[in-house]
Amino acid sequence: MTADCLFCRIVAGSVPARVVHQTDTVLAFHDINPQAPTHVLVIPKEHHREVGDLDPLTAGQVLQAAHHVAKAEGIAEDGYRLVFNTGRDGGQTVFHVHCHVLGGRRLTWPPG
Ligand code: 5GP
Repeated sequence: MTADCLFCRIVAGSVPARVVHQTDTVLAFHDINPQAPTHVLVIPKEHHREVGDLDPLTAGQVLQAAHHVAKAEGIAEDGYRLVFNTGRDGGQTVFHVHCHVLGGRRLTWPPG
């Protein structure tokens, strides 16, 4: 837990979130500003700054949870996108690593 981290506060329950899935190690909740009909964030409960800081086990747990969420939200069959915005040029704004799960419409490529 890092006191000044928004997503650590969501893990702790002191900031509300619409949780859709959790395990001992990961938490998934709806993004507050959805960019697609389904937009869920999957995070490790433990604080890590960015994807490159994750150990392989935790990285796998985040990806497994992301696919679980896609199935539970009904977007797995038609397809979905997983995104880890990383660092300034990657567009990361919250520095607690998170996987965006996006779907429910035809997503365009390349991103902006
Ligand atoms: P990033 O820009 O770091 O890749 O993604 C951060 C995401 O966190 C954004 O999509 C943003 O909408 C979302 N977000 C920011 N603050 C909150 C919040 O308080 N609650 C939730 N559920 N999502 C948030």
